[in-house]
Order: sequence, then C-alpha cells, then structure tokens
Amino acid sequence: MKKLLVANRGEIAIRVMRTAKKMGIKTVAVYSTADRNAPHVKYADEAVLIGEAPSNQSYLLGDKIIEVAKSLNVDAIHPGYGFLSENAEFAEKAEQNNILFIGPKSKAIKIMGSKLAAKEAVKAYDIPMVPGTAEAITDIPEAKKIATTIGFPIIIKASAGGGGKGMRVVEKEADFESQMDRAISEAVNAFGDGSVFIEKYVASPRHIEIQIMADNHGNVIHLFERECSIQRRHQKVVEEAPSAVLTPELREKMGQAAIEVAKACDYVNAGTVEFLLDDDLNFYFLEMNTRLQVEHPVTELITGTDLVELQIRVARNEVLQLKQSDLKIKGHAIELRVYAEDPLNDFLPSVGHLDVYQLPVGENIRVDNGFEQGMDIPIYYDPMLAKLITYGDTRAEAIQLMSTAISAYKVEGIQTTLPFGAFVCQHEAFTSGHFNTHFVKQFYSPEA
Ligand code: ADP
Repeated sequence: MKKLLVANRGEIAIRVMRTAKKMGIKTVAVYSTADRNAPHVKYADEAVLIGEAPSNQSYLLGDKIIEVAKSLNVDAIHPGYGFLSENAEFAEKAEQNNILFIGPKSKAIKIMGSKLAAKEAVKAYDIPMVPGTAEAITDIPEAKKIATTIGFPIIIKASAGGGGKGMRVVEKEADFESQMDRAISEAVNAFGDGSVFIEKYVASPRHIEIQIMADNHGNVIHLFERECSIQRRHQKVVEEAPSAVLTPELREKMGQAAIEVAKACDYVNAGTVEFLLDDDLNFYFLEMNTRLQVEHPVTELITGTDLVELQIRVARNEVLQLKQSDLKIKGHAIELRVYAEDPLNDFLPSVGHLDVYQLPVGENIRVDNGFEQGMDIPIYYDPMLAKLITYGDTRAEAIQLMSTAISAYKVEGIQTTLPFGAFVCQHEAFTSGHFNTHFVKQFYSPEA
C-alpha cells in the first residue's frame, strides 16, 4: 500500500492520515466546497475537490470518489465512520476497481446494516438477545399481541436505522397502533425501508460495546469493552474504557460473545459489537457496527494499540500479530465528544464562527480534532468538532484530568458540549460509576 485515500472529513480524516503517514503511506483527501480550508485538506499529501457542500453532492458520491482514487493511483480507501463507511455497494465497487476497501467484506456490511438480518445471522449462536420480534412486522394486531406478551414498555426500531434515529418507545398498549404507524412512516422517509420490529425496552440499561479485530486468516480477537451510556437522543457523548462495572468474568463472556458475532458473518477488519447490560448484569446483543467507531481512542489508550494501523495491516492481508493473551487492560481512558451543540438548549446544533479555538495540551491528554480558530462550522455535516480524550492509571485520575482539560479548552463564538462534560465529571453518579443510559434525563438540569 503506497497511497491511501480517506473518504471522509474532520477529525477522523486526520486521525486516519496520521497513522498512514507514520507507516510511510501517502495520503489523499477529498473535500467539498464547504471544506476548502479545512485542516484535513491541508494535512493530506494531495487533496481533490469532489463537489458541493451537501454530502449527497460530495462525501456520499461513491463513484466519484472511486474515479478520483483511480486517477491518482490510489491503492486503498479508508471510509472513516458515517458517510460511505457502511455502504456495501461502495465497498464492493472499490474492490472491483482493484482498490482495497479498509473494512469488512460487503457481505458482512450488508448483514449487519440491517438489525433484523444481524439478529438472524447470530441466531444459531448462543448470544443473548432482547426479547422481541425476529422479523419485520407486517401484521400490526399480531405484533400488538407479541408486545403485550413481552410486556410494556417496548421499543419499536427501524431495521435500517442508525445513529439513534428510527426508534420509538411505547409506554402502554393503548399507544401501540399510533406509534407503530408513525415508526413505519418515519422509517420509510429516513431510510427508504419501512421494516420495523419490536424489542422489550430494557428499563435502565448500560450501553457496553466490544471492539473486535479479525484478519483474513481466521484470527479474531477482542480488545475489551467501551462503556457508552452517557447519551442524548440515543447518541453517545461520553465514553470510557474499561467500564466501571464489568468483572473480569463478564468481560471475558461478552468478549467471547462478540467474537462469535464476528464469526457469524465471516467478519474481517475492525468492528464493534454493541450490547445492553441490565441491572442484574445480563447482557443482550443490540447490533454490530462494521467500521471504526468514533470512540475507538479509549480502546487504543488502554490497550496500547493503534487500531487504524491494525486495520491497514489486516487489509494488506497480514496475519494479526496480536494474540488474545497478549492483550491486557492498562489504566483508564475517557472520551468527551466536543459537539457544536448547546447543552442548555436540548443539545441543538450551534453552528457559526470559531472566534477562539484553543486546545488543551499535556501528558495523557489527546485531542482528535478537525477544526481551527477562525473557521466557520458548516451546517451540512455532523456537528462534532473534536474528541477530547484523557488517560490515567485509575478511573479517578482520568476523570480529574478530563475536568482539567475541559477548563483549558477554549471555544468562543459557538456553544459546545464542553460544559456538559464538566458537569458529568463532577457528578456523583458518574464518579461512583452508578449510572445508565438515562443519565442526561435523570440528572442534567441545565438550570443547575
Ligand atoms: P443505533 O443503531 O441507532 O445506534 P442501537 O440499537 O445501537 O441504535 O441503540 C442505541 C441506543 O438506544 C442504545 O445505546 C440504548 O441507549 C437505546 N436502546 C436501544 N435498544 C434499546 C432497548 N431494547 N431497551 C432500552 N434502550 C434501548
């Protein structure tokens, strides 16, 4: 691999290029007219304008990106997360054009891109699942009977959903039909696929996910868990590794379950198997994400690995050098997603001009950043500016350092999730480790 194109923007484009540079691989950036002066464009060895600001006229143009890759003799494409990263057709087209797609095979992307197909694929293995329907609902009265048997509240989910979208919690039987109608029409509008199913709504779960890595030679390892329970709109804001509540036995059990899920779809490259964990520490398979996750740095810090490097090596057909027994958890890492959002106003996007933008620096502080002072934040894309990650020998140290780093992170001109991060770090529920996915609803009162 001599030249790598990153089909993405912002912090993740830079993150991927950083490792490529370290490995002596040349880098190519693509960008839209809104990103002409973006740091990822300046950081790359070469950069190509691919279209207008809206993503469907630039970052989602798979054919155009493959054309650019061919014209520049690119050997591999890294899709980052979002955009084309879970587009099976794009992965397939890249391979057809003799360009390595740094990710799993299109078959695995396709299976795991559908929550129902994913459940079907893992059914034969001994993986616990939340009670619910195994197929897309066609008969609403029949589905209501099932919901009543499972017991309310239940959650209706779009099979093609993602990013916290396409989910509806139904508290009581009387609301079932109306919520079902809305869920189906939302799924059609948002994902072009009206397949929905129901699951028992787990009352106060924690979101625990397992990082896995698989090579083309049958080796699959897991790199332990990440806890991602601090969420708004079913989307993560604060993540950490390891989780404050997993015992070594449970970690091993969930790790093995994740490996089974990977094997169920002949998975290769980096992937994440997501689970819910209930109050009694029972875990349930939710879905698998077939790409590098936003929150991968916390795993890198506690395992001393470079996940992008592993992805590139596996894509080059190398045998995984890391064995499960080589991996040990060392220390604790926390990540705060720094979004251009106003935490005092329902976490709504707060785009605008970055009048002041200064990052914290220091030992055990890592910032994966995609912006710089003086830039405008485009309205067209996910409003994440950066990820602030801290590391410590203990969880308490990592939390303390996160608070310090947040104070040193200066942003003026827009609102961000930094004050929310500060709130989390000083909250007893978080510091004691006793929290779940309802943290924001339960404890975050903007007036406080
Ligand atoms: P997406 O693909 O949109 O990220 P997920 O299935 O991964 O959707 O779920 C995202 C979040 O929604 C979870 O982390 C959890 O907070 C909540 N959630 C999903 N399913 C359930 C469930 N059955 N019970 C309770 N909460 C759930």
